[in-house]
Parts: sequence; C-alpha cells; structure tokens
Amino acid sequence: MRMHRNVGIMAHIDAGKTTVTERILKITGRIHKMGEVHEGAATMDYLEEERERGITITAAAVNVEWKDHSITIIDTPGHVDFTAEVERSMRVLDGAICVFDASEGVEPQSETVWRQAERYGVPRLCFINKMDKPGADFAMAVRSVKEKLGANAVPVQLPIGYGQDFQGMVDLVDMTAVHYESLEVTKDIPIPDDMKDEVEAARTALIEAVAERDEALLEKYLGGEEIAVDDIRRIIREGVIANELQPVFCGSALRDKGIQRICDGLVAYLPSPLDLPPTQVTDDDGNETTREVSDDAPLTALAFKTIHDRTGDLTFIRVYSGRLERGDQVWNSRKQKIERIGRLMVMKADTKEPVDSIGAGQIAAALGLKEATTGDTLCTRDAPVHLESMDFPDAVISMAIEPKSRGDRDKLGEALGAIMREDPTFRAMSDEETNETVIAGMGELHLEVIVNRLKSEFKIECETGAPRVAYRQRLKKPVDVEGKHVKQSGGSGQFGISRVRFDISEQEELEWVDAIVGGAIPREYIPAVRKGIEAATVLGGDTGFPFVQVKAELYDGKSHSVDSSEMAFQESGRVAFKEAVAKAGITLLEPIMKISVQTPSDHVGDVIGSLNARRAMIDSIEEGKGSFSMIQGRVPLSEMFNYATHLRSMTAGRGTYSMEPSSYDPCPDSIAKEVLEEARAAKEAKRKK
Ligand code: GDP
Repeated sequence: MRMHRNVGIMAHIDAGKTTVTERILKITGRIHKMGEVHEGAATMDYLEEERERGITITAAAVNVEWKDHSITIIDTPGHVDFTAEVERSMRVLDGAICVFDASEGVEPQSETVWRQAERYGVPRLCFINKMDKPGADFAMAVRSVKEKLGANAVPVQLPIGYGQDFQGMVDLVDMTAVHYESLEVTKDIPIPDDMKDEVEAARTALIEAVAERDEALLEKYLGGEEIAVDDIRRIIREGVIANELQPVFCGSALRDKGIQRICDGLVAYLPSPLDLPPTQVTDDDGNETTREVSDDAPLTALAFKTIHDRTGDLTFIRVYSGRLERGDQVWNSRKQKIERIGRLMVMKADTKEPVDSIGAGQIAAALGLKEATTGDTLCTRDAPVHLESMDFPDAVISMAIEPKSRGDRDKLGEALGAIMREDPTFRAMSDEETNETVIAGMGELHLEVIVNRLKSEFKIECETGAPRVAYRQRLKKPVDVEGKHVKQSGGSGQFGISRVRFDISEQEELEWVDAIVGGAIPREYIPAVRKGIEAATVLGGDTGFPFVQVKAELYDGKSHSVDSSEMAFQESGRVAFKEAVAKAGITLLEPIMKISVQTPSDHVGDVIGSLNARRAMIDSIEEGKGSFSMIQGRVPLSEMFNYATHLRSMTAGRGTYSMEPSSYDPCPDSIAKEVLEEARAAKEAKRKK
C-alpha cells in the first residue's frame, strides 16, 4: 500500500491534460513491458493500440506501474460545470498534478480547478507544460501560480532552452541536468554554463523553502552545511502532504519531454493511502467513527462511478479499509441490500486485468453489479457504515428530445437508460400526456454534452426542443376538500368519496396521514386514494409542474357496497387534489443556482450590475490574488439563459463562471403569473395536437 498512489491530472481545458495522461500511459506501459516482451511483440499494431488507448484514457481509473510503484490515474472532469463529477473524482484521488500552459500561466479556469482541489485538501504538484511553445515563459508561469493562486510554488526544475530550443531540464534537487532524446531516452549532460547564476538562485530558493520547514536542517543550512538530497526530498514530501508546498516541474508533453520526471515526482512526493488519516464514516444510527486504512479492518468501499461498456456496466470502487474479494457478498448500506461482487478488474492502459481482490487504498471495477450506483457505500453486513454520501443536486432544466429517425426510438431509450446509470444528476422520462421524451439535468451545458454523446457514442441523432426551467409548485395554504367520484347511471356504477385535509409539508415527497376511523372508507380502498393523490401531484395539473411538499390527511369518506372499487377511490383522490389546488391556490417554486463568476477585476462593476438585473443575491466579492476577482451569489436559473455569451462580451472574453443548483424558492408573483399562463397554454396546445 505504501507503494501505491491514486492521482488525478487536473487542468484548464487545452492546457494539455489529455496529452500528459496519454504520455504517462505510454511511458509507463513501455518501460514496464520492456523486460517482459520480446522485440517483435512490442511493435504491436499501432492503430489498434491507439484505439484501445483512446478508450482507456476516458476510463474512470487506469492503473500503471512506475519504478516498483502502482499508480492509479483517476479521470477528472475537463468542464468545471459538472460539480458531481468533480466531487466524485476529488473523493477518490489522494493527490494531483495540475497542468499549466507555459505561455499562459494561470488561466481563469485553472483557478477554479485549483480551488476545488484546495477545498478537498488534495496535495498537488505543478507541471508547466508546453515549454516548446513560442512565448513559453517558466518564470512567468511560476509567478502566476504564486500570485494568482497563492500557492507556495517552489520550482524543483529549471528548463534548458525555451520554445523551439527547449531541450531538457536542470534538476534542482540533485543538481543534475538531462537532455531529452525521446520519450524514454534521456542523456545526462552538465548543467549549461550560461545557466549557472539562474540555477544557483533557484537552488537557494528551494533549499530555503525546505530548511524553513525543519529546525535541524535550518541550523545546518545557516551553519553553511550542505543539506542531503534525501533530506530535501523528505521535506518536500512532508510539505506537499501537509498541503503547504507545491513543487513545480516543467516539460512538453507533446514533444515527449519531462514525463519521466513528473512520474518520479508523483511517486516521490504525493501521498500513499497510508499517509492519509483514517476514513471518517457514520454508522446506521448516525454516530461518527473512523476506519483505519488497513486490509485487516472491516470493509469500507465507495462505488464512485458507473461506466456503460459493451460488455455490461462497470462499477468503479475504491476500498478505504479492508479487502474486497471476487465472489464476496457485501452490504450496500445506502440501498440496504446485499450485493454480490462478480468479477473484479483493474483497468490497464491497454487491457482489463482480472484480479481476485483489492485492498485498502486500491481501486478496481466490478462487473455486473445490480444495485450499486454512484455514491453508494459497500461494507460488511455485520458492521454497516456510511461514507459521507455524495449529494447530487436535483435536475433543474429539461428539454424535449426526439430521434431524427423513427427507427431509433428503442435505441434512444436504451442509451438514455445507460447514461442515467452513469450520471446520477441526469434524468430521462417520457411525458405520457404529450408522448414526448424529456431529458433533465443540471444546466444547459450538461444537456448539450449529453445530446452530443448520444450522437458520437450511441450514433443517435436527435432533434431537441428549447431548454425549459424545471419549476415546481406547492399549495398556498391548508384546505379541507371533498373528492367525489360518483357515476351510477345504469350498469355497474362507480362510487368513491374521500374527505382530505391538505397542508404544506416539511418534506419534499407526499406526506400521507391515514386518519380514517370506523370504516368510513373500507381499508382495502385507502391505498387507492393515496395513489390517486400521488399521481395528481406528479402530473402537476394544468401546468405540468410537479407538486412538492404536499401533506394529505384522509379523515373521512363514503363508500357503496356494490359500486365502490379501487378505481373509483383512486379517482376520488385525484379529484380531491384538484379541488385542493382550486381552493388553496399555488405557490410557484423556481430553481435557484449557486454561481461563481471569475472576472478581470476592472469588470467587477459591470458583472455585478448584470447579475443584479437578473435578480441575483450577491454573497461575496473577493479580490483575487492576481488581476481576477471572484463573485459569488445565488441567482434564479430562469434568468441565466445565454449568460455565457453575455459574460464573455462584458469582460472581453476573459470572464468565466460555474453554476450549480442550490435550492427551490418561491417565485415573485408577477413572474409566476406569466410562467404559469405560458405553461398552461403550452400544455393545452399539446393536448389538442
Ligand atoms: P486538454 O484539453 O487539457 O486535455 O488538452 P490536450 O491534451 O487535448 O491538448 C490541447 C492542445 O494542446 C492539443 O492541440 C495538444 O496537441 C496541445 N499540446 C499538448 N501538450 C503540448 C505541449 O507540450 N506543447 C505544445 N506545443 N502543444 C501541446
């Protein structure tokens, strides 16, 4: 376990995350295999290899070997908008490499990514990539990491040459220099003469950063003694794990330079699972406790991602304590179900490798789990615990979707099902009244990405409707109503009468109270009344927005010895709810989003003005460490369509934002009226069609 690392590679889009990952897979794969594979087999079909690799690069967790260490690389989302994705990757990685573009330094989105890592206390290394680009500037990039991110960024390397002349680097820890011949082959060279001053200054800065952390070393240093290379490495490692120091590496992934050193760095400086504190868990009664990071402790594992694969769903699991074995019966503490672990596989760069078991700190994919979805805890039946559960926001935006070719209908259903199993924030349903398929998610971009996926991955081209805000409604006040469904003209009749008191509940879903005494409604029909009310709340009446926070107390009613039936009472429940809506009136609830906007500081005024015009509540305005400021607040989703374009034009293209659902709040009356009228008209029009 000491020899294991779980790491993520994080970056602003385009900084080179994919290229860096690909090169790491390549070099670890090749060097690992060199000793085992004879020459002929090593030159495998290039295309086939690339194709396979293309698949595994996007896998949730790929395992590689580097110098006797096992490293699992965990996929992190490129788009910061996908909060759930970010959350689940942060949960399972123990350290990260942050990739920056050497000619850009810190970009607004790299700042967002960095802050996320900071929030989760993830130890980090910095990799200044693209040193081969004209305009690459290592010193500028390091400065921007320090200033904009407030990082204690300490270079452990210096580049030799810039742009086209970029050849290799000086290692400031052991004071060696290398020239990169290819991805694998480096040549040791003397430290170039013309870099002596620069190297000396950087080395001094490194030694001071190290000595500062250790009194004994500081004394040695001040006494003019040399500090041993092993001591330097040890102190850097401690600083990284304590989240107080971030060593900076450099290279060019595209030109195959610097990849070996960053692999060495992640082994040397990022924590192993054993370096982490015990895992926090709660038991079934909500008491907090911890589990040691040890194979001998009871099992605690997290299902953190499901991926749809040709051969069946793969559920990625990280074990925090204990061992997970093939064939085990484990307890899913969220679903309260036993789950059988069929096959277990470790994803390699070009294969899936079956394994019998994995221990604490390790990650594998289980094939064919029936119940587990993202965020579930797997544990032993006799010592059930819950890892802090991941909260997934509700879907707040929806869109009608239809395959361009009628023949794709079934295929679309299957594809949407597969995506739903992967992504707990995505929903697909069919609107029975209008016969439409509707997809729902966390934002415009989220749905856009899914529609693109349907096209590229599932080969289904779709027409989509305009995105719609997923409003909800609730009753305005408590009411007492009668739901009457009586039809007794000839033949077998229908008879059901229910008296129901409705109120506003604390809980989202229907709160049901059965207060029938003396058999006013026969027992067997009572569930039917509830069913009728429930169905009516889901359908959402004449606007189609579902009702939430409904409390229904069935307290009286009438039945008929011959004409009463389940159907009749279900209908009486439906009628009762309709009456309640007519009598109580409704409050329209709209989704409110938590938003962070990053903007160059000189545009803060404009950005706030435009947010205020969108009914936003501003919570904080923070002067960033650089020339950027961060504005945080809450804003109704309905006001945010096309905000991306607007923000860009307002900030000369430099502002970015991210948004996630936060709550549902009552919508101001004037706006509610308009929204409701529009929804009624739309629904009416569809019914006529
Ligand atoms: P990602 O969006 O962060 O995954 O970035 P990619 O790895 O897809 O890279 C974005 C672009 O930058 C691609 O066109 C790459 O070829 C290019 N790129 C990546 N690494 C380097 C590098 O070291 N030097 C140069 N010049 N280009 C690079």
